[in-house]
Amino acid sequence: MPAIEVSGLVKDYGTVRAVDGVSFAVEEGEIFGLLGPNGAGKTTTMEILEGLRRPTAGRIQVAGFDVVRQPNEVKRRIGVQLQATALFDLLTVRETIALYAQFVPNPRPVDEVLKELALEEKASTYAKDLSGGQKQRLSIAIALVNDPQIVFLDEPTTGLDPQARRNLWDTIRALKRQGKTVVLSTHYMDEAQELCDRLIVIDHGRVIAEGSPKELIRRHFEASIVQFRLDEPLDAQRAAELGALLGQDGPVSGPEVSAQVEDVPGVLARLFTWAAAAGVTVSELAVRTASLEDLFLKLTGRSLRE
Ligand code: ATP
Repeated sequence: MPAIEVSGLVKDYGTVRAVDGVSFAVEEGEIFGLLGPNGAGKTTTMEILEGLRRPTAGRIQVAGFDVVRQPNEVKRRIGVQLQATALFDLLTVRETIALYAQFVPNPRPVDEVLKELALEEKASTYAKDLSGGQKQRLSIAIALVNDPQIVFLDEPTTGLDPQARRNLWDTIRALKRQGKTVVLSTHYMDEAQELCDRLIVIDHGRVIAEGSPKELIRRHFEASIVQFRLDEPLDAQRAAELGALLGQDGPVSGPEVSAQVEDVPGVLARLFTWAAAAGVTVSELAVRTASLEDLFLKLTGRSLRE
């Protein structure tokens, strides 16, 4: 039995359709991602799975229970980290966890949770004096106090510096090692690629792709990506020549150029010969495999960061 089954989920806010017929299943023990730009409907979807919002339509089962008809059964089995958990400034880390432990039937020992989130040294620190990464770890600690089977993390690393993000990734992987199912929303492609066993890409309330990061990239890209920078703008003739050389339909517009290429050595050789003859300087040349970022661009015509 899947940990989560969502079928035909719709959510309207007045006349705005925030979620438009989303279906997916999450297997037990996997890290499952909801990936999409701001406003795609990730938070709304998560909050419906958590029983915090009512769906307009659709059937949603979490841990084998219907979220609308059996919300208490669901709540007992899930842990929720909200996008912005309100922490009490003048409670210490230990007091905060102990406070939330009072709200659940069989709380875990506070010390155990502190240790798991590497917060022992901060146990006596006020919430207001924690770093961004430590605050996020505390909000995950709160979500783990009832020893949930399924953990929901809504954009857990937004606003963190790179080191704190990596630390949090380790924390999330550790949840998986304990056999927990993790559902994670993010608008960071690299995060989804690093962490998720499987994911859905959501745009405008709809699922536009589903699979493991590797599968998704393999399905949509047979080629590598060649990218480089043009130091000077090209005239129309050169732009057309370069477009043809890279196998594109039209002329190239700079200064950043990126092309899907199957015969990488052949294209690079022709590129260097052409650039030398045309007096064009090519810099910052890189060849890489396609990423989820390229996938999103291909599927939507937009970059996730726009
Ligand atoms: P973000 O990454 O910014 O959190 P998201 O993918 O989580 O984005 P949602 O927060 O689910 O997206 O929002 C989806 C759409 O629904 C947006 O257009 C948003 O403006 C709208 N929306 C969300 N909450 C409400 C609400 N309470 N009332 C009205 N509209 C809402």
